[in-house]
Amino acid sequence: MCHNINLNTVDTYRKVDMYNKLLKLKKEGKIKYLGFSFQGTPDILREVVKEHKWDFAQLQINYLDWDVIKGKEQYEIVQNENIPVIVMEPLRGGGLVDLSKKALDKLNEAIPNETPASYGLRWAASRKNVITVLSGMSNLAQVKENIETFTDYKPLSEKKEILGTELSKIIQSQGEINCTACKYCLEVCPRKINIPAIFQLHNSYKQNNNKSVYSLYYNTLAESEKADKCIDCGLCSKNCPQNLNIPDLLKKIDKEIKELS
Ligand code: SF4
Ligand code: SF4
Repeated sequence: MCHNINLNTVDTYRKVDMYNKLLKLKKEGKIKYLGFSFQGTPDILREVVKEHKWDFAQLQINYLDWDVIKGKEQYEIVQNENIPVIVMEPLRGGGLVDLSKKALDKLNEAIPNETPASYGLRWAASRKNVITVLSGMSNLAQVKENIETFTDYKPLSEKKEILGTELSKIIQSQGEINCTACKYCLEVCPRKINIPAIFQLHNSYKQNNNKSVYSLYYNTLAESEKADKCIDCGLCSKNCPQNLNIPDLLKKIDKEIKELS
């Protein structure tokens, strides 16, 4: 797999002629399926799918990113070339598991006994031509829940699929930051600001509006990791697959936290 094709990496893949190097290995029987994972814009994706013949495309597909990062458009570009899809981030780094009360009530009302994780996984798997749904699991309970979801798996009905759009609208109206906690920004930050942790605390605050918990947990971060230590170099944003303007967001969070304290 050509990992993480995006605005910053696409030309490097071209320059080193990676596709043809891998194709040679495929012809030798050392690779069975040759594909790519993608975290760029639809325009780049259009070029990538036309340049070569791919066996699969790994895309970030979930009911929130369907709109937010133009996931629907990306999926359709790949579908037009009839390329099988592997889904990554079906639960958006766990962000679609911890739903706000409003979103959770909406889900429970529409599908009683469905968990947010199960709904998110089933929503992603219900797309046509999806061959695999990847899910990062961090404990045994999550492993069990995922196995249960995909045992005797049934795709969502159209009516239940539409619920994803409604949940997405609720989540987007809460002012959360679209961070998937991939930590690519941490790899390049010269000040080692704990960006994903800060964004996660901010998002939890937007979900539950609990000011004291926000302040309390923010203050458990080391002083050197906090938003006000950012020097605005912008390196993190260049590495962010979600194209977030991280320095600006950190400035807003710093202001927000200081106003709450
Ligand atoms: S802009 Fe701030 S957070 Fe981003 S890499 Fe530079 S110092 Fe780190
Ligand atoms: S690179 Fe972007 S999406 Fe990934 S953890 Fe950092 S801010 Fe979040």
